[in-house]
Amino acid sequence: MGSPSRADLSRVRQLLRATARLSSAITEVEVAEIMLGEGTETLAARTAAIWRVEPDGLALIGARGYSADEERLVRRLPLVPEVPIAAAVLGRAPVWITSRADYRERFPRSAGRTAAAATSDELAVACVPLVGERDVLGVIAFAFFEERAFDPDERAFIELIAQHCAQGLQRADLYDAERAAREHAEEARRLSEESRERSAFLAQAGALLSTSLDYETTLRSVAMLAVPRIADWCAIEMGTPEASAQVAVAHVDPSKVAMAAELRERYPPDRAQPRGAHHVIRTGVSELYPDVTEDMLLAGAQDAEHLRITRALGLRSALVVPIRSHDRVLGAITFVSAETGRRYGPDDVAMAAQLGDRAGMAIANAQLYAAERRTRGRIAKLQQATAAFAAARTLDEVGEVTVELAVSVVAASRIMLWQLDAEAATLVLLSARGLDDASRVQAERIALDAPWPVAEVARTGEARFYDEAAVRRLGTAATVFAGAAIPLIVQDRRVGVLGIAFGEPRDFVTDERDFLRAIADQCAQAMDRVRAYEESVRAVAARDDFLSIAGHELRTPLTAIHLQLHSIQALARDPQAPPRLLERSAKAYAQSQRLARLIDQLLDVSRVARGRLELDREEVDLSALVGECVTRLDEELRRSGSEVRVAIAPGQRGQWDRLRLDQVVTNLVANAIKYGAGKPIDVVVESHGPHATVVVHDRGIGIDPAAQQRIFERFERAVSSRHYGGLGLGLWISRQIVEAHGGTISVLSAPGEGARFEVRLPWAPLPTP
Ligand code: ADP
Repeated sequence: MGSPSRADLSRVRQLLRATARLSSAITEVEVAEIMLGEGTETLAARTAAIWRVEPDGLALIGARGYSADEERLVRRLPLVPEVPIAAAVLGRAPVWITSRADYRERFPRSAGRTAAAATSDELAVACVPLVGERDVLGVIAFAFFEERAFDPDERAFIELIAQHCAQGLQRADLYDAERAAREHAEEARRLSEESRERSAFLAQAGALLSTSLDYETTLRSVAMLAVPRIADWCAIEMGTPEASAQVAVAHVDPSKVAMAAELRERYPPDRAQPRGAHHVIRTGVSELYPDVTEDMLLAGAQDAEHLRITRALGLRSALVVPIRSHDRVLGAITFVSAETGRRYGPDDVAMAAQLGDRAGMAIANAQLYAAERRTRGRIAKLQQATAAFAAARTLDEVGEVTVELAVSVVAASRIMLWQLDAEAATLVLLSARGLDDASRVQAERIALDAPWPVAEVARTGEARFYDEAAVRRLGTAATVFAGAAIPLIVQDRRVGVLGIAFGEPRDFVTDERDFLRAIADQCAQAMDRVRAYEESVRAVAARDDFLSIAGHELRTPLTAIHLQLHSIQALARDPQAPPRLLERSAKAYAQSQRLARLIDQLLDVSRVARGRLELDREEVDLSALVGECVTRLDEELRRSGSEVRVAIAPGQRGQWDRLRLDQVVTNLVANAIKYGAGKPIDVVVESHGPHATVVVHDRGIGIDPAAQQRIFERFERAVSSRHYGGLGLGLWISRQIVEAHGGTISVLSAPGEGARFEVRLPWAPLPTP
């Protein structure tokens, strides 16, 4: 090779310039652009093009000087030896075609086609493979509309161009590979970041759900937690497909949350939509929309404005999962990505489904807990009600208790308690709270045939519960939002109606109804108890009245009989009198005294019942008093056959009611005679420190231990009235008298072994505190 010609020098300069530019080219297209530009200019080629070798042939990556049609023809070329460009690749060596004749001869098949497109008959083509380190990367071709011998310098130059081109392509390939690797790494990092975010979110949301029992607040916190790490929007819908409500919406920007609320207000969601939260609540199946498509927006939009707004939200990807507890779908969580451009995939569905399950579990727990707490609260309230009702003694008190309970326990705003009158024809208002004057007048008396709900409840005996709509239909006051009318029934007897109204809406779930019924039952029972009590008090008072009247009526003629017997006894003492008259009149006198005692007992019953057992204290010699009593019962003692042994310490004096003490001692000794079976009786009077004692001890039939307390009560007896006469009042009255003196009376006895009654009396009245 001689010294380089001028043309060579200029070519080399141009090539240097090309390589300088080539160093900044980073894509194969840029490489092709530079090399083809330089090549055509330097070589004055008519056309130039570069193809890359691909598995299925050659692909054009850049061309110069081709018409659009020509370019289309050569865009993809088969890798076959019949095509000179391909032949250069396959042979890994340049193909130099110096003329059309040369072309026709060496590549007859290809030349035919090229000829058709060629405008000139003159033709030369240079095809040089672009050989990389290992493979042939492509091929560069220059065509000339002239015959050209391609002298060695020119060939060397073209091959140099090819070499630079190959290097450029190789660098571009490397660069591509590196970028791909970088992108891949980036993607992997993003994916792992997302997965980390998902786990962290799930852990935090799970913790929130498991610690709180207020699940609506918790769900809102979960939604807040989701943005923007998991979604740009998070919404939670709870309820049934027909009646669900959005309990939470979250977006990092509060103004957007407000906008979403407005949008929902203006365009209430169509529950029949075949996708979205309502659909998921209905089907219980998760929905994944990796891409929110225009079609979806169109399908969801209710008018052009709606479409415009939803489009403007720029929603990218969406995911909806059910909130499930056991087999029940309680709601749905929706995640939507927008600004962050996140695209949801199966991993997100798995995470969200887990969140839905945890939320479901938490809600089920919270509901269970709330129900249990409600039940426990109600049991406590019922106990409170029972105690309050038990303390009520009058109907008015029952009314007050009912009203207080209805206010404090069920938060009623109006309460009306009616009692059914004796004829079961009218409801009479017993107690009321929260009524205005006009309503109260109306409620005062309600005929059972009146067209009112309470009258109907009293007629049918069935409770009625009114929700807000029902209350409105009834035309009740506007401040009433719910109400109940519950019959008061005791053992199949209707005793009244309890009416309750509430100032806020209530839906009266079953346990609330049961609770109100339980309160009404207690109220009914209390009313009945009070009624029975008042009746018995009335009956006892009537009896006491009768006893008092009858006693006084009997006492008057008896006093007259006493006087008569006295004078008869005086006459009988006359020596002329028939011999047995004295004895007979004494017997009659004793009997009339017994009768007097019985009548006095009856009178005492009514006296004590009226609290009229007044003591008339004076200085009394107990020893003398006991002696007199025993003497007075002389006749009866003789008849019974019992012997009385008296051991009386003399001079036992105290401040007592003489006649009443006489009554006590007479009672005890008379009983000892009556139940003493003719055996000896001991009567002892003694002093025992602060009190005196009187003991009456017989050896008769005795008293069963079980009856020993009872015999001191009114009308209580431990023997059959067929064998022993008596009213069962003596011991009761004795106890009243002894206790009025501040003393005690007691008995020691065993059946068949007699009875020992002991009375202890303080000497003087105890100082009243
Ligand atoms: P009454 O003797 O009129 O029945 P009381 O009140 O005096 O009424 O006595 C109540 C009951 O106590 C009697 O019915 C009898 O069963 C029993 N009782 C009283 N005193 C004796 C006694 N000394 N021995 C056995 N039983 C007695």
